[in-house]
This record gives sequence, C-alpha cells and structure tokens, in this order.
Amino acid sequence: MSLPESNSNPSNFNKDNPFRARLQENRLLSKPGSAKETRHFVVDIAGSGMQYTCGDSLGVYPSNPPAEVGEILQALRCSGSEPVLLPKSEQAIALHEALTHRVALSGPTRKFLLALQDKLADAKELKALNELLDLPSDALREWLEQRHFIDILHAFPSTVISPQEFIDQTRKLVPRLYSIASSPIVYPECIHLTVAVVRYETLGRQRVGVCSTFFG
Ligand SMILES: Cc1cc2nc3c(=O)[nH]c(=O)nc-3n(C[C@H](O)[C@H](O)[C@H](O)COP(=O)(O)OP(=O)(O)OC[C@H]3O[C@@H](n4cnc5c(N)ncnc54)[C@H](O)[C@@H]3O)c2cc1C
Repeated sequence: MSLPESNSNPSNFNKDNPFRARLQENRLLSKPGSAKETRHFVVDIAGSGMQYTCGDSLGVYPSNPPAEVGEILQALRCSGSEPVLLPKSEQAIALHEALTHRVALSGPTRKFLLALQDKLADAKELKALNELLDLPSDALREWLEQRHFIDILHAFPSTVISPQEFIDQTRKLVPRLYSIASSPIVYPECIHLTVAVVRYETLGRQRVGVCSTFFG
C-alpha cells in the first residue's frame, strides 16, 4: 500500500515493492456540518523495517472505486478476465486488475475521442463526437475536465472498443504523496497523516478523490 519517500529508508520496501500497511485509525477532524472533510489517519508500518524522518512524505498506492470499475466493464461488455498488456510489460494481466490497480479512470484526453472515431456503430453518435472534436481547444479541455472515461463511454453507448484499445488510452494510476504529521521519536512504528478528502460533483454525479477516499 505505501512507502515513505525518505532518504533514510533502510527496508526492502520501496516504490517498486510497496509495503502493504494496515490502517490503524481513521478519525474525522472537521466539525459536523463543515463543508470540508479532513481526516486523521494512522498507518501501521510495524514489521516493514521502514524508518522516517521529519519532513518525509508517505507515498500511497490507491485502488480505483469498485463501482466505477464495474461500470467500465459493463460499458466495454467485458467480464474483467480479458488479458491486457500495460505499457513496457510483456506479461498480460486481467482487465479487472488493470482497471482497479494500474490505470487512472479520470483524465480522458482528446486522443481518446479521436480513437473513438472508428469505434462508434451509431451515425448520430459519430456526428456528435465530430462536433466535440471541432470545439475550440479551451472548450474541449473544459468538457474533458468534467468527465471521467466512464462518462464518455456513457455518452457514446454504441462504442465497440477492445479491452486492450481502451487500456492503451489510459494513464498509469500514480501514487499520491502525504506529508507525515507524526514524530518518528514518538511513533517509530506508525505514521500519522492529515488528509483533506476530495469530494465534488460534476454532471450531477458525485466524484471522489481516488486516494483520499481509499484509506477507508
Ligand atoms: C509533497 C506532497 C505532500 C502532500 N501532502 C498532503 C497532505 O498532507 N494532506 C493532503 O490532504 N494532501 C496532501 N497532498 C496532496 C495529495 O497527494 C493528493 O493530491 C490529494 O489527496 C488528492 O488525491 P486524490 O487521489 O484523493 O484525488 P484525485 O483522484 O487525484 O482527484 C483530484 C482531482 O480531482 C479533480 N477535482 C477536484 N475537485 C474538483 C472540482 N470541484 N471540479 C472538477 N474537478 C475536480 C481535479 O482534477 C483534481 O486534480 C500532498 C501532495 C504532495 C505533492
């Protein structure tokens, strides 16, 4: 799950071999009714051999929300067991694994819309897609910023795209950094974080920050 971004980390765990840590505490700090949701998390690193110092950040590898993964599988008409290759990898993994742990489900680009041009079975949808592609770049960027991949698949339901073609359009799901709020002298075996949980709404749909809501 996580690793300290530290110069003083003597353990075998690192960004290529992250430690699967246990969440020990999850406490709401903001007052009831507050517009913000700020949480205090305590991550147990006992047994990892990790050490941290003041000023370090913790890197957290999140998973995507299962509901969004399920919606994408449905839109792609896939079971999730279909093999896909990630960039620079020769070992195929299951589509479900890729969508859950390896690729970002937000941040679709103009390139994705271009890739859909010969994937739409419906002429009206193709016309709408081409109108979008003709928008000035600022307007198209704004349109894309409001959407995740699933919104685009829903907007163009006649899309027939293979699991591999879809994965090829996504970016890597990257770890998020969190400033460590505890002292290693007081808490050598756990890390305290203060996290502002990201929640917002676009297109009438509730969205969540992948990592700030992943803690539990
Ligand atoms: C060195 C460092 C230390 C950090 N320390 C902390 C820390 O101690 N505590 C902390 O809380 N964070 C910290 N952060 C930020 C943290 O790493 C994450 O970026 C943050 O938690 C959001 O990640 P997420 O996965 O929850 O959200 P994401 O899934 O990455 O979603 C965030 C994205 O959602 C979109 N978005 C958000 N609001 C809206 C909106 N209203 N309308 C449309 N789109 C919107 C934007 O595209 C935004 O980029 C730190 C970052 C760095 C680089």
